[in-house]
Amino acid sequence: MIPRTVYLDMDGVITDFSGGVMKYFGLTRLGHTPDEIKQWNWFADFDLDEKAVSEFLSTSREFWASLDWTPEGRVLFSVLYQMYGADLKILTTPWRNNEACKGGKLDWVNKNIPRMADSVVFSFDKSKLAVPWSILIDDCEETVDKFRAAGGIGILVPRTWNTGGKRV
Ligand SMILES: [Mg+2]
Repeated sequence: MIPRTVYLDMDGVITDFSGGVMKYFGLTRLGHTPDEIKQWNWFADFDLDEKAVSEFLSTSREFWASLDWTPEGRVLFSVLYQMYGADLKILTTPWRNNEACKGGKLDWVNKNIPRMADSVVFSFDKSKLAVPWSILIDDCEETVDKFRAAGGIGILVPRTWNTGGKRV
């Protein structure tokens, strides 16, 4: 059997980061939905002050800890866990390498998927973990491309903000 590690992203894959930001900044009250997000850096499209958003995301551990699952997040996680067990890892980039974000993400995992508590990897360059038998499941096109270029298997989760989403 080929040894294989599967890395599963959090934001935009199993956690609804965009929906959380929209909710907090009142965009959902104005009738906006995450389906309207068409690019990776979307804050300006909704007249959000990126500095204010960034400041909030850097200081609110509770925000990260209380994000909702994406609609398919639970099923995706369950299937992958059944298939890969201990070879499944959570791989996530903390916002601005911030302690509140890191702590909140760990809180989220502890609350929602406690069996993964010891399997969370923080990284700013996911491609460093790319080897021929590693798989990355992620919604950021650039990250997936880089992981593939480094020799790993990259799977792009289709979202409205990437080309996978434009194909479906
Ligand atoms: Mg992501």
